[in-house]
Amino acid sequence: MAFFEGTNSTSTSNNAPYLSYIEDHISGAVWRWKWNDNKVVNLTCYCPTCDGQLIYSTSYMYDESSVHFICENCNHNVISKVKGDSIGFAVAATSREIERRVRTKEYKKLNLELSDL
Ligand SMILES: [Zn+2]
Repeated sequence: MAFFEGTNSTSTSNNAPYLSYIEDHISGAVWRWKWNDNKVVNLTCYCPTCDGQLIYSTSYMYDESSVHFICENCNHNVISKVKGDSIGFAVAATSREIERRVRTKEYKKLNLELSDL
């Protein structure tokens, strides 16, 4: 059964290699997520320095066209900026980027680089 990997992947894609891809650095922050079939869910971002979960602001005083991700643990430093005027837009843009990296197989390259460290 395990040899039939491939095209009929609607309900039987539990062994897909990208399912172990659940973390990446995107726009300066660490993003972690879960897979629901082939969709990114529970996408959250963390500080690359202290691993604290980032809070976000859409009304940052200097730039209202981006969502700012801020680490409370690191002097409220702005860790990441994502274009867009709402958290929903920023998260959707990030999940599109994750799905793009999966589609282009870029994530495999990233995983290799990480395991070389
Ligand atoms: Zn931090």
